[in-house]
Amino acid sequence: MSPETKDIATPSRTRELLEKYGFSFKKSLGQNFLIDPNILHNIVAVAELTKDKAALEIGPGIGALTEQLCRTAGQVLAIEIDQRLLPILSDSLAVYDNVQVVHGDVLKLDVKRLMAEYLPAYDKVSVVANLPYYVTSPILMKLLEERLPLEHIVVMIQKEVAERIAAGPGSKDYGSLSVAVQFYAVAEVAMTVPASVFIPRPHVDSAVLKLTMRDRPAVEVADEGLFFRVVRASFGQRRKTLYNNLLGNLFGKDQRDLVTAVLKAADIDPSRRGETLSLAEFARLANVIHRFQEKG
Ligand code: SAM
Repeated sequence: MSPETKDIATPSRTRELLEKYGFSFKKSLGQNFLIDPNILHNIVAVAELTKDKAALEIGPGIGALTEQLCRTAGQVLAIEIDQRLLPILSDSLAVYDNVQVVHGDVLKLDVKRLMAEYLPAYDKVSVVANLPYYVTSPILMKLLEERLPLEHIVVMIQKEVAERIAAGPGSKDYGSLSVAVQFYAVAEVAMTVPASVFIPRPHVDSAVLKLTMRDRPAVEVADEGLFFRVVRASFGQRRKTLYNNLLGNLFGKDQRDLVTAVLKAADIDPSRRGETLSLAEFARLANVIHRFQEKG
């Protein structure tokens, strides 16, 4: 195999590209590049891509994952914040005619508009990415809250965060991030990944999180903002009861009777802890509070 046809995600090809362009990693941008083609094949398989689907990648780096996406999907759109990577990407991905790279910060860009502009022919688009770990949650919440027309979101993230997102009620990992993500998607940890498949090696363990987008949110809520405020308040201090967390974080200290009445109407034991409530129970609680507020 000549160097040109070798996968980008091999230690030798990666080193060659980095040296050719004198590239130095920026820790502040979460730059840990993948150098193991097998891991990449597994990630792409988890995303269930085919040639009639498109992929949206956040942070292509030097194109290790992008290359596999080009081979498997019909069209690829990649968003990269680091300008220094653009000439490297046009070199490393030169043989693929189904990829476009947009320069910018995914948190600031209008991603819905970019998808409409660059992937107009595809009704099935999935995000597939090895995310920069310093902004995992903001990126995921942006993709979910903006209700982008996505099929799956398959992302390499810090293992601990993946476990928190996929956790269910009663688990020590279950928290407001689990509820926020599971409101929009079904979450599962698809695989864990050793630090040895990256350069430079990250100091944390990694995992691939698979989100399958729901057609509509998991539960029906009258006021989404209120639902999320109730969730955050309930998880406020983990050792406290639901009653005390609601009293301290959502209602005023002088509203003891109201909190008691709300929990009774929602049929939830006030001595329970927030981390034992299912999404359906949080929704019931939020909808009761909404009703009480409307009545004044
Ligand atoms: N996909 C490549 C790979 O797997 O080898 C690189 C992954 S590396 C963990 C994260 C990439 O995201 C880097 O290329 C980094 O420059 C880019 N990045 C960091 N913050 C970003 C942001 N806010 N918007 C877009 N790209 C970003």
